[in-house]
Amino acid sequence: MKCKVCDNSEINEVCEGHQLLCDKGYVALVGVNKTGERTGDIIHMEQSSFCKTFHIQLDEDSFPMYLVSNEIISKIKQAKSESIYKNQQE
Ligand SMILES: [Zn+2]
Repeated sequence: MKCKVCDNSEINEVCEGHQLLCDKGYVALVGVNKTGERTGDIIHMEQSSFCKTFHIQLDEDSFPMYLVSNEIISKIKQAKSESIYKNQQE
């Protein structure tokens, strides 16, 4: 099933999987390029660390999904892999 996180369609629905991630406290970050087209990158971040990192207050009434630039996506990917690496070292 397509949803507004998985797909760029006009529907205002989310699939079971993305609803579950939302319920678990994750924000969906969807990568877009400079012209606003989706790059296909979707990253999920814990709401608490997302708010702390980007100084954003989540709107509790709407589904936690944000369109972000490629640069931000790659920064988050890098931060994630670094923290995973660090955890393995400890
Ligand atoms: Zn979905």
